[in-house]
Amino acid sequence: MLTHAIFDLDDTLYPQTSGLWDAIGERINLFMIDRLGLPPDEVKARRDLYFRSFGTTLKGLMRDFHVDPADYLDFAHDLPLEQFIQPDPGLDAMLAALPLRKSIFTNADVKHARRVLNRLGIAQHFDTIVDIWALNFVNKPEPEAYQILLSTLRAEASHCVFVEDSLRNLLPARAMGMTTIWISRNGTNGDVGFVVKNVGEVGPIVNDLLRGKPNG
Ligand SMILES: [Mg+2]
Repeated sequence: MLTHAIFDLDDTLYPQTSGLWDAIGERINLFMIDRLGLPPDEVKARRDLYFRSFGTTLKGLMRDFHVDPADYLDFAHDLPLEQFIQPDPGLDAMLAALPLRKSIFTNADVKHARRVLNRLGIAQHFDTIVDIWALNFVNKPEPEAYQILLSTLRAEASHCVFVEDSLRNLLPARAMGMTTIWISRNGTNGDVGFVVKNVGEVGPIVNDLLRGKPNG
């Protein structure tokens, strides 16, 4: 029986074509060049290495440069959201009709999450935000992050559906027994339960599951 719907934030609750995630990436590059004095032509390779090794750039920068995470997160997310994402009444309606407890599970911080949720007009649906502070910088896809999530929600993995745009971040959830829904414009159903093009399609899938249709 599903009781909890858990959503990633960036590129999951708003379209991957919005440009917001790319703009955050540009802010991160700028942080590394302006604040840390790194040569611009080294930034991409270093970010790729950190992403592969740790799942986030922040974690690598904390290890190698002792960056202040609050300073980094404020800098990375200092963007005019209204230029990238718009209120989404369709998503608001879908969430309102979804008969599960809803939470956010993000490697970003709660400040950014609240701003995004408010801009989309959907903040009222989420009773819990498990962010990078709540995770104590144990981020997705580290399996421990999912354990922290479940203990925070006091939920069993098998009672949760997890919605994400990152396949890498879905796999640990799948392995733990969560139902997984991958938001992907061109992904195919391989290692995850369901693949959809946008978050609006989550409602019908969950309703089918609640009616007892077979798990994907
Ligand atoms: Mg994402």
